[in-house]
Amino acid sequence: MNTSFSILFLALILSISFGFKKLAETSKFQIFGEMLTQINTPEKVIALTYDDGPNPIYTRRLLHVLARHQVKATFFVIGNQVEQYPEIVQDIRLQGHELGNHSYSHRQLILTSRAVIRSEISKTDQLLRRNGVHQAIHFRAPFGYKRIRLPLVLSQLKKKNVLWNVDPKDYRASSSKTVVDHVIDRVSPGSIVLLHDGRGDRTLTIEATAQLIPKLQSQGYRFATVSELLSLTSPKS
Ligand SMILES: [Zn+2]
Repeated sequence: MNTSFSILFLALILSISFGFKKLAETSKFQIFGEMLTQINTPEKVIALTYDDGPNPIYTRRLLHVLARHQVKATFFVIGNQVEQYPEIVQDIRLQGHELGNHSYSHRQLILTSRAVIRSEISKTDQLLRRNGVHQAIHFRAPFGYKRIRLPLVLSQLKKKNVLWNVDPKDYRASSSKTVVDHVIDRVSPGSIVLLHDGRGDRTLTIEATAQLIPKLQSQGYRFATVSELLSLTSPKS
């Protein structure tokens, strides 16, 4: 092997491995299955999504705010909470919101086996089916996890990992204003906004939702569930 060929070969190997590293680092990369953070559409439509419920204190308060503004949202619920509060799940469904799967126990999926990941997902799907959900059930991984075994399991289950492109970090915000300002600054057509109605005091999130809806409407935005958003066009790449 002559020197220039060796250098060329080395450069090729380095660029391939660098490319893979870059790909693995980008938030949109997933080896198997589809991951979704935003929809590519010119239309001013976004999805508000609420994770970690159903919660006996906050979910119904949130439903009340959404109903007052006639806005439909998507709730990514935790299976063991669904078992405890099926009547809240029924309320969410009967009020026309979408229910998604946020695992059974909200554990970190990073070091779990494929069998455990599969059971975390299928147990919650079964619970939602038992509570009258007939449409496709989308999945959102706890902590937004997206690597290694999870994408493979999701592709076998023909599910997408529905993440977000707007995260106001409502769980650690100091005021509803910071949540509202963050969303208003970052939102664009096809956005998926991450909020929470469980696993903590969600008073700020509910206040922020009440302020956000009219603000976004005055900017020409309308609200859709994740499935409605998906039906509009292709995921943004
Ligand atoms: Zn969560």
